[in-house]
Amino acid sequence: MADIIKLLPDSVANQIAAGEVIQRPASVVKELTENGVDAGSTIIDVIVKDAGKTLIQVTDNGSGMSAPDARLAFERHATSKITSANDLFSINTKGFRGEALASIAAVAMVEMKTREEGADVGTSIKISGSKIESQDHCSCGLGTTLSVKNLFYNIPARRKFLKSDTTEFRHIVNEFQKISLAHPEIKFTLEHNGTEIYNLVPGNHRQRIVGLFGKQINQGLISVETETNLISINGFIGKPESARKTYGEQFFFVNNRFMRHPYFHKAVTEAYQNILPADVIPSYFIYLTANPASIDINIHPTKTEIKFENEREIWQILMASVRESLGRFNIVPSIDFEGEGAVNFPISGKSDFLPEAPRIAIDPTYDPFANKSTYTRDSYIDRFEKENISYWERLFPERKNESAAESEIKTTVAEPERKFMQIKNRYISCPVKSGLLLIDQRRGHERVLYENFMECLNSNGSASQTTLFPVTIELGQDDFLVLKEIKNDLKRIGFDIEYGDDSVITVNGYPSISGSTNIKEVIEILIEEFKSTSNDPSTGVKEKLAAAMASASAIPYGKPLSNIEMETLFDSLFSCSLPNYTPKGKAIVSIITVDELDKRFQ
Ligand code: ADP
Ligand code: MG
Repeated sequence: MADIIKLLPDSVANQIAAGEVIQRPASVVKELTENGVDAGSTIIDVIVKDAGKTLIQVTDNGSGMSAPDARLAFERHATSKITSANDLFSINTKGFRGEALASIAAVAMVEMKTREEGADVGTSIKISGSKIESQDHCSCGLGTTLSVKNLFYNIPARRKFLKSDTTEFRHIVNEFQKISLAHPEIKFTLEHNGTEIYNLVPGNHRQRIVGLFGKQINQGLISVETETNLISINGFIGKPESARKTYGEQFFFVNNRFMRHPYFHKAVTEAYQNILPADVIPSYFIYLTANPASIDINIHPTKTEIKFENEREIWQILMASVRESLGRFNIVPSIDFEGEGAVNFPISGKSDFLPEAPRIAIDPTYDPFANKSTYTRDSYIDRFEKENISYWERLFPERKNESAAESEIKTTVAEPERKFMQIKNRYISCPVKSGLLLIDQRRGHERVLYENFMECLNSNGSASQTTLFPVTIELGQDDFLVLKEIKNDLKRIGFDIEYGDDSVITVNGYPSISGSTNIKEVIEILIEEFKSTSNDPSTGVKEKLAAAMASASAIPYGKPLSNIEMETLFDSLFSCSLPNYTPKGKAIVSIITVDELDKRFQ
């Protein structure tokens, strides 16, 4: 039998290998731009024609190359960046495989002009389909210009499968964004068919983000910053209201290299849980710095996934860090009280700042159950007061003694008085430094209760309030099962329920922190909420239960509130970790700024 195994000609082998690295015009833009970064450039200009199908030209002012190096650069596995396998563990350049230029030269018509420091003349090399066509001296600026024409001219099948210019250019922009975000210290420009698309001046990360995504993104950015010995985290996350339903502004970088990291992505989205609806994706620009020896970037040439040694720990740190930033933003923004009535806001994450315990004061004329009969007003006030204090203590144990002292002077009305006003028995308003703060009363209470219930579910549980008479409720079989499934968690938040035969339950006690006494209604709402959210896997049982309970027992619209009640709600709300949004992502707080007010009176 004749030998049938033949060695492929070099040119074919090169084309096949090239296909791995160069899949579309955007891959060329990526490789050439990264080479510019690796060469220590401070300016990189990218010019593209017809979405890169006709021309991609990248000019940098970096190190340039000597004549022999310029020639060698096009050899496969020619790289100046690593010399031994050991170097793979301390990579701080973009490229290191030495494949990009060889691959590009295999599938396009390439011209390179380069000059290094100290050389009088530069080198010009023309190479097409891996064949050197010419090498000459030339006069050119310091640095390197690479022009790549007619990509895939020699692989018609490949060229045919390129997508529309719009799509291919979108890919180019995406690569350009990743590299320019990783290196805000470098000036980048991008031109397409003669039109300047980006002109990014050197600056910090925030300026670079604004340069790419426009001025309006600026006020939607919240900074993230955490320093640990495993990892340091820097950058920005988007405010919840700037999140969208599509991907696009999610960027992770490690050691100034863009990476995809689905697992860390989950850490970020997890931090937004219960302030964003499940189908909305927050934007983020997060820069990680890790010891190069603790990460593995040596996988597939075009893959941007990176492995970390301590992935689980970093996940936790990242998630906590994003959460902390969200919390800080939620409280700090422009709510800043004027004059004597100034309130100290608890700023989470700043350990040297201990919040003041809210003053517990009760309006003696308020009777929340005027129309209902189970409780006397006094017992309610008493309970309300105790609960508020213990809630506060749980949140800020350091303040325990002071709030205990406070409880002895219960009915003293606090000084100085802040001014609250209820609008339409629906909104609570209060003047603040930057304008007029408005709180949706029901949503605000929902957030307070939610965090309260979550506390209970995560700790030893909460006190149960015994019902005067056991309440018996007949349920449908389905509903009965729904309830039974969560029975342990129900118990933990303070429900005392007997599950009888024939789907009948008897409620002997209910959570003392819930505002509502209509047990039947609470149970029904609870079941409904649970049924409607039970298909959503992103929320845990505890979160669902806490959200359902909060929704079932929050004060309704239409309920008049006294000044003291508004104040108490206000204080509890702003001691929450995320006071701006309900567990389902609805806005709770809004500020009408002085500017907006001024405009109305122009
Ligand atoms: P890699 O970047 O993986 O080393 P490339 O094929 O992209 O491989 O480049 C090969 C070599 O050519 C690089 O290691 C570098 O020494 C040199 N080189 C490529 N582009 C430039 C440039 N713009 N400026 C200076 N040197 C360059
Ligand atoms: Mg390279």
